[in-house]
Parts: sequence; structure tokens; C-alpha cells
Amino acid sequence: MKTYRIATIPGDGIGKEVVPAGKEVMQALAKYSKSFAFDFEDFDWGGDYYRKHGLMAPVDGLDALRDKDAILFGSAGDPDIADHITLWGLRLKICQGMDMYANVRPTRILAGIDAPLKRCTGKDLDWVIVRENSEGEYSGVGGRVHQGFPIEVATDVSVITRAGAERIIRYAFKLAQARPRKLLTVVTKSNAQRHAMVMWDEVAAEVAKDFPDVTWDKELVDAATARMVGRPASLDTIVATNLHADILSDLAAALAGSLGIAPTANIDPERRFPSMFEPIHGSAFDIMGKGLANPLGTFWSVSMLLEHLGEHDAARLVMDAVEEIASNPHLHTRDLGGSATTAQVTAAACDFIAKSMQASELAA
Ligand code: NAD
Ligand code: MN
Repeated sequence: MKTYRIATIPGDGIGKEVVPAGKEVMQALAKYSKSFAFDFEDFDWGGDYYRKHGLMAPVDGLDALRDKDAILFGSAGDPDIADHITLWGLRLKICQGMDMYANVRPTRILAGIDAPLKRCTGKDLDWVIVRENSEGEYSGVGGRVHQGFPIEVATDVSVITRAGAERIIRYAFKLAQARPRKLLTVVTKSNAQRHAMVMWDEVAAEVAKDFPDVTWDKELVDAATARMVGRPASLDTIVATNLHADILSDLAAALAGSLGIAPTANIDPERRFPSMFEPIHGSAFDIMGKGLANPLGTFWSVSMLLEHLGEHDAARLVMDAVEEIASNPHLHTRDLGGSATTAQVTAAACDFIAKSMQASELAA
């Protein structure tokens, strides 16, 4: 029996609702599994912690995470605290502190979901966006001087290193190679950003030589948005810088139905540290505390977490539960046009898992 050490960090807003829901699903799996168990440790970091201690997380907080097998995260963002403080104090502290440089965001239109992007008929839409997660436009380099004076200056310097570009582009090529279509689109903006993005393009062309079986092309980021809407089936794996992919992946989530369904993995491909899994959405101030949050994005993230741990059958089962719920309008939350609650969807997922596991070899 393998026991995985899992950190849960609900954070703020609906993170406090969807992470406990994800944990329930994992507990349902563990209850029937004869091969693995989970040892959870819950961390109360976020806006409430900040109000007490003046920090989103303890100074040495990462020490408590390093020996975990994986982290399940909710959201950082509090209505009463500036967004750059909550984001940098918690989510980016963890992602950068443990060099989780690959942010992986799959998008599919699940059966039963009324997605704006219905043009992609025939084949199921199946994209994975790989977002550079350690530098670029969110490097944190910059500053403000002469605050409040007319001569005030503020900069956010986009930092692209050759090493950073190489490792994320290589990761994306490898991922594309492992997927059926072996198709990669490298998103760029080397017409306007004439230094860093030109190097980015050069690195892509160099790395491509190591993957002769992967078909790849280059697309400017603005044209990429139009292509996602107009020719969605021409895309499969996509790699982009931190900001570009941040925007493209929210667009992808919305096109596929709802921000409430989309998952994210913050991966350290070298496995020096735990990787962190989270729904793509934020704190959702408008619905927090009401039990209306869609937990499917968190469940899908749990599936990615299990995949990362090598528990492929369990990962598949959680994804089956997500698809089962998506196909049942009675289990749609408000963001999908339904009236189901977080608790009802969670109970349905746990029930599906329990029934399947009682019947399957996973429990054997
Ligand atoms: P958001 O994702 O919180 O909400 C956008 C809209 O989508 C809202 O109308 C919300 O109700 C809806 N929505 C999102 N998730 C949903 C779910 N699971 N079920 C149903 N509806 C859902 O984005 P925002 O409003 O831009 O940001 C709010 C706060 O969250 C900000 O403080 C922001 O910085 C933070 N944020 C954090 C993260 C993160 O920690 N990874 C990501 C995005 C935003
Ligand atoms: Mn985002």
C-alpha cells in the first residue's frame, strides 16, 4: 500500500469550497483502493492568514511543502486585499519557489456541455496549452519610481532567458510527441517584440530538430485567438509565454463551456519538488460562500494530480466521473445554466467513484 503525502491549500473565495470537494473525491477513491492511500495536510494560507499575520503564507512555508508528493490548490484572491499581494504572496511564491516551470492546461468540450465553440464538429476538441510558468511578462522584474508625481515611471520587464525558453519549448515538444496528432503550435509575437520573442522563435526552431516526428508551426498570439475560434481543429498542443498563455487558456476554457470546468497543473518536470494542481478559475467573489461553485475544474485537476503520481486507473476514473456529471443537466451548476450545488455535484462524483470501484479491479 502506497501512501501519498498531499498538501491542500484552499486559499480564498471559492477555493475554500472546491478544494474540500476535491479532497472528498480523493478520500472516496482511497476508501476503496487497496493499492494507495492519502495522507493529507491542510494549510490555512491566504487572505484570512494575511489579516492575522500580515503575510499570505509563513516566510518558511515552502519547507512544509517540499516533501509532499503533490499539492491541491484553490485560489489566491481576496476582495479586501490587492490582487498583486495575494497572487505573489501565495500562488506565485509556491510556483516560483519550487520552480514549477510548466503550466499545463488541457481543454476539451465535454459531452453535455453547451460550449460556445460548437463549430468543431466531428472530432472532439482536444487542446493542451503549455504555459511558461517562471519568467516572461510575470518575472516580477520592474519597479515604480517618483510615485504620485507626473514623472512617475512604472515597468514590468518581460524576461525571457534562453534556458527558460528551451526547457518549456522542449517540454511542449515532448508532450506533443506523446499525443496522437503529434502537432505543436508555438505562439509568438516576434513581429512587435523584436528581441526576446525573436530568440524564442529561434529556440523553437532549434528544439524542433530533436523532434522530427512532430509537426509544428508558429502563430502570432493575436492571430492565435482568431484561429482558436475559427479553425479550432487545426490546433492540438500549444506553447506560449506566461502572459500569452494565461490569456489564451482562459479563452480556451470559456470556448469549451465554463471557467468552472478547466484544470491546471503546475509541473516541475524534473520532479525535484511536488507539482501543484488547481482549477484555472480564481476566487469568484460574486458567488463565494454560497455553495454554487462548480467543482468540476478541481476534480479534473485531481485527475491530473493522480496521473502525475502514476495512478492512471484512478485518474481515468475521476475523469469518467467528470464526464458523467457533465453529461447530466441535473448536475450542472449555475455557470453551466443549471441549479445544482457544489455539494450535490461532489456527492454525485463520490457516488460514481464508489460504485465503479466496488465493481472494478482497482479494488481487487
Ligand atoms: P474568477 O475566475 O474568480 O471569476 C470569473 C467569473 O467566473 C466569475 O463570474 C465567477 O463567478 C465565474 N467562475 C469562476 N469559477 C467558477 C466556478 N468554479 N463555478 C462557477 N463560476 C465560476 O476570476 P476574476 O473575477 O478575474 O478573479 C477574482 C479573484 O481571483 C482575483 O483576486 C484574482 O486575482 C483571483 N484569481 C486567482 C487565480 C489563482 O489563484 N490561480 C486565478 C484567477 C484569478
Ligand atoms: Mn489566469
